[in-house]
Amino acid sequence: MSWIYLDNNATTRLDPRVFEAMRPFLLDRYANPSSIHQFGQQVRHAVETAREQMAALLGLTARQIVFTSGGTEANDLAIRGALAARPTKRHFVTTPIEHDSILRLTAELKREGYRVTQVPVDNLGRLDPGAFGAALDDDTALASVMHANNETGVILPIEQLGEIAAARGVPLHVDATQTVGKLPLDLGALPVQLVTLAAHKFHGPKGVGALCVKHGVRLRSRLVGGHQERDLRAGTENVAGIVGMAKALQLAVDHLPEERGRVRELRDRLEARICERVPSARVLGHREHRLPNTTSIAFPYLEAEAILMLLSNHEVCASSGSACSSGSLEPSHVLTAMGIEEPWTHGAIRFSLSRFTTADEIDRTLAIVPQVIERLQTLGTPAPM
Ligand code: PLP
Repeated sequence: MSWIYLDNNATTRLDPRVFEAMRPFLLDRYANPSSIHQFGQQVRHAVETAREQMAALLGLTARQIVFTSGGTEANDLAIRGALAARPTKRHFVTTPIEHDSILRLTAELKREGYRVTQVPVDNLGRLDPGAFGAALDDDTALASVMHANNETGVILPIEQLGEIAAARGVPLHVDATQTVGKLPLDLGALPVQLVTLAAHKFHGPKGVGALCVKHGVRLRSRLVGGHQERDLRAGTENVAGIVGMAKALQLAVDHLPEERGRVRELRDRLEARICERVPSARVLGHREHRLPNTTSIAFPYLEAEAILMLLSNHEVCASSGSACSSGSLEPSHVLTAMGIEEPWTHGAIRFSLSRFTTADEIDRTLAIVPQVIERLQTLGTPAPM
């Protein structure tokens, strides 16, 4: 099958140049970076070089980067780690549109007796900085807000939120899993204390990510074991993954200036033509404050799963919101939090592009989507009400 892959917010294709950078560490340079022998120390050098390269690309220092197994673990370390380090404070501020790794952690925190405030978003997925500021109080241990939403692509005003939180002395964690590699970012200049990223969202390998920890932020480690990552993340490092992540970030940053505009144009064309051919379709989320690669299009009275299956039969990969919730008939928590009404939430499809997406693939998709929708509309697939 020659897939048209428009599910890049779920994961991306590994860039072959990243694979070449990783290959020696999968085959020949396999020593443990914590070993004393020179073989191990050469591998240690590769890990530390990758850390320095990533730090330089993100506007940070090498000491501010803690390697993890991906976005989920970095989010967990940020939130659990920061809360454990500030045990006298029992209030946590977040949003209802976070990724499941934070949303479900938030539910756990509530069960454990934490007071939680989820600052609402509006109909376009935007968060009001004033409402965020009003949610912070003297008992707030931490705030956690995503940079861009994985389903709608809507970008939240983290710079403003960071300033507000800093004025209240509250550390802010930002889940930037969907923005690193897609937007120019100088994390050093942003007034935020903890930032999550994951390599597989920017054409790096799966199973590796990082938590950026600004100086002065206290964290308690989640894992006990070896002393890796300055005692913040025990366990032998995923060396090939780390080397691959640094290479992937370098490539993403290098390609960004030309790719951002190109990908945005392709996304806009896809969106505009679908809406022309399917007049009942509606784009969800703010059209401007949005990632250039993402569109969430709702087809009322249709079921997303049925649309996705037919698209898949035509070799088009898309998604109904987050990968974790696809396969379930529950409407997306993000769209529900935005107050999107029932006939729209059930038929919402996310198309997410990447630098590997071609104009030809978008044209082929445009030939398929309206056909699929028309077929389902004719069949009268009832939406679950
Ligand atoms: N945060 C966001 C916003 C995401 O989109 C994802 C993945 O979909 C994650 C966190 C989890 O990252 P990982 O799959 O690397 O654990």
